Amino acid sequence: MSKHIKVSNSTGERFCSVFKRCGGCQLDKTYTEQLEWKQAKADRMLSKFCKVDPIIGMECPYNYRNKIQTVYKLNSSGQIISGVFQSSTKGLTAIEDCMLEDIRAHKIVKTLKSLMKDFKILPYDLSSGRGLLKHTLIRTSDKTGQVMLVLVTAGPVFPAKHNFVNALLARHPEITTIVQNICTNTTPLTLGTRNIVMYGKGYIEDELCGCKFRISPASFYQVNPSQTEKLYTIAVDSAGIKEGTRVIDAYCGTGTIGMICAANGAEVVGVELNKAACRDAADNAKRNGIDNIRFFNADAAEFMKEIANDGMSCDVLVMDPPRAGATQDFINAAGKLAPEKIIYVSCKIETLERDLKMFRRQGYRIDKIQPVDMFPHTTGIENVTLLTKK
Ligand code: SAH
Repeated sequence: MSKHIKVSNSTGERFCSVFKRCGGCQLDKTYTEQLEWKQAKADRMLSKFCKVDPIIGMECPYNYRNKIQTVYKLNSSGQIISGVFQSSTKGLTAIEDCMLEDIRAHKIVKTLKSLMKDFKILPYDLSSGRGLLKHTLIRTSDKTGQVMLVLVTAGPVFPAKHNFVNALLARHPEITTIVQNICTNTTPLTLGTRNIVMYGKGYIEDELCGCKFRISPASFYQVNPSQTEKLYTIAVDSAGIKEGTRVIDAYCGTGTIGMICAANGAEVVGVELNKAACRDAADNAKRNGIDNIRFFNADAAEFMKEIANDGMSCDVLVMDPPRAGATQDFINAAGKLAPEKIIYVSCKIETLERDLKMFRRQGYRIDKIQPVDMFPHTTGIENVTLLTKK
């Protein structure tokens, strides 16, 4: 079936021969054992707050990732190789396929390597500063079938770019948009601020829980769509949304959770730091015909402090911060706003544990903790937590 992935005849479990070298997967266990491991960790860290519900796993925990980042380099014999970036060594581990990523991406990467050779496009080399292609980002949607390729380059000049794009599209008609992103900073796997649309609309669309979402190159979007629908459904159900419920969706990304609340009748305010994601969020509201949601491009803590000082309030606070969790300032402001319910969606259990302690000091009781396996084969544990004002 593939170069690195072996399938067990008896159980159908898959195992990867580059497990140790790649580092993308961290749990060398069967999927049942992985879920047990995550449940035990969630119980150990969070059961002091309330009973932890049984983790919701995937039926088929493979090829779920809809966002694929690939780096390229020349090997010692001058061949272009591709793989994953290793932050520890700042190097590349060559891989040709991966049991986590959407398989459409592997075929595109393979073609890219051969076209780079034909068009004499060199991978960018950090130490010498020579070459053009820094990395590629591929985003896919199963629901709409759309595929975006982002070619991240060190400079704006892309030789023979029309021919390159045409040659690529001839072999991959499934690609619906191609964007060149110019990134002059030296941090690996980051995007620059300038995008040049080479083909298509410059973004893809996806659907979650009946709402449509537009995703730009830099927007945050959950990487496991089938588990995301389960996660959001639990979050929105726990919020107990009714007609007119006033919701703040903090760290809202492209507005996903807030939009689903708004589609259920809530009056929603979303706040998000990333400008492109915030723009996508406003556009998403329009394309879904939803006018009971507004978005603010701001730091969530600053925004919360400001509206708390203005004496505003809300019924439900939905918060989905990055791995670093919320800040003391954010939690203090949330305490001042005093929503009846807080729905805390967390992708890092250590910061969730820390923040729940702070929320307890603000007078909140923890009523529900639901782990959802968003990242099979990795140590990541996502949780939806319901907090209620005492
Ligand atoms: N709820 C969204 C996004 C969650 S990821 C979803 O499920 O898709 C966390 C988001 O928080 C990212 O979009 C990131 O850009 C944003 N973010 C990070 N720091 C922030 C801050 N200080 N204030 C507001 N948003 C922030």
